[in-house]
Amino acid sequence: MELFTHLRGTFPNLACERDFPFARHTSIGCGGTAAVAASPACVEECAALLGFLKRERIPHCFLGAGANVLPQDGHFEGVVVRFCALSFLQAAETDVFAGAGVTGGRLLSFAQAHGIGGFSPFSGIPMTAGGGTAMNAGVRELHFSDIVLSVLCAEGDTVRVLGNRDCVFREKDSIFLSGIAVLGVRLRGKTAHPQDIARESCRFRRRRRGLPKGRSMGCTFVNPPFAFAGELIERCGLKGARRGGAYVSPLHANFIINDGGTSSDVAALIEFVRREVLNRTGVALREEIRRLP
Ligand SMILES: Cc1cc2nc3c(=O)[nH]c(=O)nc-3n(C[C@H](O)[C@H](O)[C@H](O)COP(=O)(O)OP(=O)(O)OC[C@H]3O[C@@H](n4cnc5c(N)ncnc54)[C@H](O)[C@@H]3O)c2cc1C
Repeated sequence: MELFTHLRGTFPNLACERDFPFARHTSIGCGGTAAVAASPACVEECAALLGFLKRERIPHCFLGAGANVLPQDGHFEGVVVRFCALSFLQAAETDVFAGAGVTGGRLLSFAQAHGIGGFSPFSGIPMTAGGGTAMNAGVRELHFSDIVLSVLCAEGDTVRVLGNRDCVFREKDSIFLSGIAVLGVRLRGKTAHPQDIARESCRFRRRRRGLPKGRSMGCTFVNPPFAFAGELIERCGLKGARRGGAYVSPLHANFIINDGGTSSDVAALIEFVRREVLNRTGVALREEIRRLP
């Protein structure tokens, strides 16, 4: 039976989209289609769906704002689980509890309106609360791992609350990248005046103005110890290197820009850069971006 029909038969009220185009839902703007994208309306529906997908051994993957992923070209005969409808936001003193689908911008505006500061360094990072938690997103001054109090998550239909230590946060990594879905995250902020928060957020946003424009996934590689990936790539003379429609940004060598190319172009360029840097410097770069599915 067709996957869409099978899913609809089991979950008549589940919001589903057939032939989901990855290119339209990712910042890199390429990739093929998935048979179905499903957006559960609440935590309970999400857990029931994940339990079903696990029991039936239906291939699936998770997608947030799509700002750090490279989908495959071609067709994925599986389900993309999206979290946009998990958009709840609650404030309790200086804590914020955000649903996985809440965007970074909404999280920051909400916290500011409630006089909760401490999140300004996240200003301008394209993300959802779920994707940000899973990727341990952040900048030099602040990462999710610094402020996560607990995470409401689901492994199949088992819903649990994990404390910060259980999340096994590392640079651009966490336990949630091993198939555990973030449904909501409780973050620790601090009391601040909304005007001061606005000023600080503006400062962090301004700092990002120099980042390359165009379709990208942000930084492609994690910085190795004691070096910047971008500097290593630049030193190897790879700025502007191109495979099809994908090229290494002349502005910031750790950014790959997609100008009408395919995922295969982007993947080929990543492989080329990795090989060149290894051959010329001996440093093995680790990808920061995640391949889908
Ligand atoms: C222009 C640009 C600038 C960027 N700047 C920064 C920066 O300054 N700092 C930084 O850290 N990152 C940066 N990034 C990368 C990106 O913003 C972060 O990695 C962000 O956390 C991605 O969130 P997302 O919701 O888009 O996740 P996605 O890209 O959709 O997903 C990323 C990974 O998380 C998984 N995932 C998504 N949602 C969930 C969930 N609910 N539960 C479990 N797993 C999930 C996905 O399966 C995937 O493996 C930048 C990206 C771009 C395009």
